[in-house]
Amino acid sequence: MQYADVILPVPIPKLFTYSVEGVVGSLEVGSRVVVQFGRKKFYSAIVRRLHNDQPDYETKPIISVVDSTPIVGERQLEFWDWMARYYVCSLGEIYRAALPSGLKLESESKLTFNIDFEADEPLPERAEMILNFVESKRICTIGDLTQHCSGFNPLPQLKRLLDLEALFISEELRDAYKPKTDTFYGLAPDLAAPDALGECLDRLERAPKQLETLMALVQVVGGLGKAQKGETVRRADLLKTNGASDAAVGELVRKKIIVATKKNVSRIASGDLQIVPPNPLTDIQRKAYDEINNSFKTKNITLLHGVTSSGKTEIYVHLISECLASGRQALFLLPEIALTTQITTRLRRHFGNDLGIYHSKFSDAQRVEVWNRQLGANEYKVILGVRSSILLPFRDLGLVIVDEEHETSYKQFDPAPRYNARDMAIVLAQMHGAKVLLGSATPSVESWYNATENRYGYVALSQRFAGIELPEVVAVDMREARRKKETVGIFSLVLKEQIDRALRNKEQVILFQNRRGFAPYIECNQCAWIPKCQNCDVSLTYHKSTNQLVCHYCSYAVALPQICPACGSPTLAPQGYGTEKIEEEVRTVFPEANVVRMDLDTARSRKAYEKIIADFEAGRHDILIGTQMISKGLDFERVSTVGVMNADNMINMPDFRAHERSFQLIAQVSGRAGRHGKRGKVFVQTRDPQTPVIQNAIANDFKTNVLQQLEERRLYLYPPFSRMVNVLIKNKNYGIALHAAQTAAAALRQTFGNRVLGPKEPEINRIATFYLQRITIKIERTLQPQRVKEAMMSIVNAVMADPNFKGTIVQVDVDPS
Ligand code: ADP
Ligand code: ZN
Ligand code: ZN
Repeated sequence: MQYADVILPVPIPKLFTYSVEGVVGSLEVGSRVVVQFGRKKFYSAIVRRLHNDQPDYETKPIISVVDSTPIVGERQLEFWDWMARYYVCSLGEIYRAALPSGLKLESESKLTFNIDFEADEPLPERAEMILNFVESKRICTIGDLTQHCSGFNPLPQLKRLLDLEALFISEELRDAYKPKTDTFYGLAPDLAAPDALGECLDRLERAPKQLETLMALVQVVGGLGKAQKGETVRRADLLKTNGASDAAVGELVRKKIIVATKKNVSRIASGDLQIVPPNPLTDIQRKAYDEINNSFKTKNITLLHGVTSSGKTEIYVHLISECLASGRQALFLLPEIALTTQITTRLRRHFGNDLGIYHSKFSDAQRVEVWNRQLGANEYKVILGVRSSILLPFRDLGLVIVDEEHETSYKQFDPAPRYNARDMAIVLAQMHGAKVLLGSATPSVESWYNATENRYGYVALSQRFAGIELPEVVAVDMREARRKKETVGIFSLVLKEQIDRALRNKEQVILFQNRRGFAPYIECNQCAWIPKCQNCDVSLTYHKSTNQLVCHYCSYAVALPQICPACGSPTLAPQGYGTEKIEEEVRTVFPEANVVRMDLDTARSRKAYEKIIADFEAGRHDILIGTQMISKGLDFERVSTVGVMNADNMINMPDFRAHERSFQLIAQVSGRAGRHGKRGKVFVQTRDPQTPVIQNAIANDFKTNVLQQLEERRLYLYPPFSRMVNVLIKNKNYGIALHAAQTAAAALRQTFGNRVLGPKEPEINRIATFYLQRITIKIERTLQPQRVKEAMMSIVNAVMADPNFKGTIVQVDVDPS
């Protein structure tokens, strides 16, 4: 008897074994099968191993096989194993993260009835009953069926019906992804003979429009020969050809001179492509390019430290071309918010239809299409994608580029797997024997350290393309400005005057604030009461447009009360400011300016986001206000002025990476100024201009900043001088969460001593009704991380087995961002 160990899309730590008994068709590792799990749940599971070792529990049979060929490759599965071990998560969690939902089958999956089914022999009564039920419903879930058959287990018969193809389950699976079709036109087959065509042309003598349309069709398919061989043209392409008309096409079809067929087409627009070779590199860029290739001779990973607008992307394009020329694939990773139409268009020009795009804002169907194509022989040679694209199938990767490698959004926090795509890209590349290029204007402290320790190669590119100067960065002392009454609302006078000047010169302005909403919080001026979220321990953010108080953690929202619920006075007032409030102020202070705001509230969808960018690019707005979303990978021609409205609230975040990030943010938003034309100006409003980070940002001194950070990290044993693991303990009961965390921390200390910190309540100690406690473990780099994690988990799990801690959830976050 054969058995299959399968990966179920659920967070259980183990593989489950099913028997392969009676399965029709061949079964391979990496294929999906439908299995029952628990009493009523059904899933599509992925076969991880086939063997003959009978497990010591009674196995259930596989119900049906979904794929005749694997949809996850052997190397991918090894990569999953690696990730699961490193991030202490289950393979099921990776399975869920990796596959687009169109390729997943959950318990709610549906059964459909095959109307063409004819039984060769009488079916057992139960099978008939199942068939009748599904037929009457046309479509129903396995759950519905189980409920209907209350007296017996329908599974054995269901399996038989699936094997007989009387019912489909896998069909439905594929239906979740429906290929898109379009109409194509071609010459009717009986016109293939030369004289037949002649006759037909004579017939059209008195219908010049139709004749012209027919000629247009012949022309676009590439001549008469091709037309007679049955070449077809897509409807849209025919109609945009000179001489073709919609009405005439209709007539020609009616006369059976041309025929219409439906064909599957790609959802991923390709359009007319004019492929152009990469731009020639400048001498400086060429030097960096050669250095990278040299570095790759001895190092698998190289850090490209290139200031904004130095031409890093141009260099990537050259490296990718070279990789493709050697017959291998390339992966180009970008953080979510940096993946814009701008970069897509740029790469599309060079790589045409060899370029595949993988974006979480794409529809699921588009993502299924990319996945499927990666499995076939005609796969994309280059994938431009976000975090999750490291989980796509690749045949043979030769190069992985991680742009903006410092970006913390490469780290996924929720749900598990809590992976860092930059780090996993390195692991993936190793499995393929590919080279990795990490690129950034402001490398992460970790990557910089790896380069100085000679683990990574290092190449610098310190001049902007075409000699454009980096902008001048000025700190504005807001305390002093307030004292001297040199402010206009939330603007310092200097920033206000600079914006006036920019507007007069028809230049554009970007204002950055790392908080959305109107006011970060509301406070009663009488009694200092602050409204907080009922589920989370955070103050609610006031959104003026909706007059609501909103929780940015769980989305809880209430109307703003008229009077203070604590003291009854009508004295609730907004404190601090978010992007929405800045927008309102800008409209009052600069009434003549055309203003647009970009944050999660105005640009939730990809369309809205791209429209704002396109409009700003086209000069339809003078001032763009935004959060982090505006700091990435955008290239605007006419921006001369950038204002960082409040640098203090990012510098003072209670996080060991706060200073590193603040420097990065100021440098990145500065990169938006003066990219073309004259030198830009950046104003950083702060109450404490002497803070080292601000001083370093003004001096554009990346190195001093990173050295200061490294010194601090060394002193307090933070990464890169240690590996960190956070264990988050969650319970709806505050006391249980605390007690469980204290017990676990004490148990961990017995083994790990003072490497264990906490438990500590996170800054936000309650999220979505769960109370949180956090234990942090800092492991020396000399210790074996895998052994440590295993020991750590067995200690924590043993503690959580205590019935007193029932309902406690443990979340592990390795290398937290
Ligand atoms: P980075 O990725 O470092 O921010 P980019 O590659 O986007 O820099 O280059 C900035 C701008 O300069 C882009 O508009 C790009 O087209 C242009 N540019 C850079 N290098 C070249 C080159 N060698 N030839 C033509 N244009 C270039
Ligand atoms: Zn009050
Ligand atoms: Zn909340």
